[in-house]
Amino acid sequence: MPEYHTSPGTRDILAPDSTRWRALVDVFARVVERAGFGQIIPPMFEDLGVFLRLGEATDIVTKEMYDFEDKGGRRVALRPEMTAGVVRAFVQHRPLLPWKAWYAGPNFRYEKAQQGRYRQFDQVGVEVLGVDDPNLDAEVIALAWEFYGQLGLRQVRLVMNSLGEPEDRARYVDALRDYFTRNEDALTPESRQTLLRNPLRVLDSKREHDAAVVAGAPVIADFYSESAAAHFATVLAGLDRLGIPYEVRPSLVRGLDYYRKTTFEFVGAALEASQNAVGGGGRYDGLAEDLGGPATPGIGFALGVDRTLLECDAEGVFDAPSRNVSVFVVDVTGGQEALSITHDLRGAAISCDRAYEGRSMKSQMKAADRSGAGYALIIGGDELANGTVTLRPLAGQAGDDRTQISIPRTDLIPTLKRVLPS
Ligand code: AMP
Repeated sequence: MPEYHTSPGTRDILAPDSTRWRALVDVFARVVERAGFGQIIPPMFEDLGVFLRLGEATDIVTKEMYDFEDKGGRRVALRPEMTAGVVRAFVQHRPLLPWKAWYAGPNFRYEKAQQGRYRQFDQVGVEVLGVDDPNLDAEVIALAWEFYGQLGLRQVRLVMNSLGEPEDRARYVDALRDYFTRNEDALTPESRQTLLRNPLRVLDSKREHDAAVVAGAPVIADFYSESAAAHFATVLAGLDRLGIPYEVRPSLVRGLDYYRKTTFEFVGAALEASQNAVGGGGRYDGLAEDLGGPATPGIGFALGVDRTLLECDAEGVFDAPSRNVSVFVVDVTGGQEALSITHDLRGAAISCDRAYEGRSMKSQMKAADRSGAGYALIIGGDELANGTVTLRPLAGQAGDDRTQISIPRTDLIPTLKRVLPS
């Protein structure tokens, strides 16, 4: 029979990594729920049209979408990101404003897979609809900053920019197109291709050959209307007030077409430059309208779980929490005692495991040691006859006292609750 493996760009996340994964989402949920966000669990696939709004000139739409016709003849796509689906949900359900939603889950992009870049990857993130106040931009950015801090990350940097109002952005794109077209000969063929589709994205080029031309390009700040400049200044003042350091980088344009005004990215120290963004976000004040809803301002961010964990590894923080059981039941009387004792202990919220298949005492004790449990609970012939169990501290147990004790079966749960660390 053929042996199947994961498809390129996808991975199995096994314990203990999966435990860490869940712990990361728990940290995120705690941070954002403290700020009044409620969780949304949108579907993983949507009508293709929802994602086409991300921009006809966007790679994730033109090249990377997992779209297909379903058996009912509908054109659907696996979500490549969360914002479009969340805004579609807003338009569909019209919750009270402001609407603050958070999410966690997988996204799908047909990318060239490498370390930190996968075809299925997870994000945690937030979206807020209905508020144009620049103080919110600073607040939202502060939540992501707090999350990284709670994980123990100290080397993540915040990069800020504003893309101005849509009219500012449009004038800027025209100026960029002119400038790059004049300097086309000095650009790489890849960037010349990008120029045809989206001049903004030429600024994203990490190719050395493009560096000089990109460095001399017009900067967006020269195109800001008064309102866009004031909005951005207030966002930065908010970050200053919260003591959050940032760098303003005029070339930060981000991949999706819907951004306007505030855009930002969190950059890790651990990963190669082409995928060192651990998270990013911005304002998308026109998206709700684009998806058939009322004109509604919006802002949000998405943080990559996979890359954030790689950054945690590189900085040596946020280890997988220990999920060892507390007690390992060793039953050498056939296994039925272990069946009922483990059942009772678990019912009393005491974590425990056991060995199976009537193995020898020696083999079961080995399994007990391997389990990482603090105690072995031993039932042999004597214990069975006189209604007791023997509690033996194991090497995994903190402290030096290795004295074993005999406990009447009827006292087992209260005794364990006393002995086990809470
Ligand atoms: P984006 O929607 O492209 O701005 O992505 C937001 C964040 O998701 C990025 O900063 C990455 O951390 C993460 N991300 C995006 N694409 C991938 C991918 N293919 N593999 C892993 N993480 C990704």
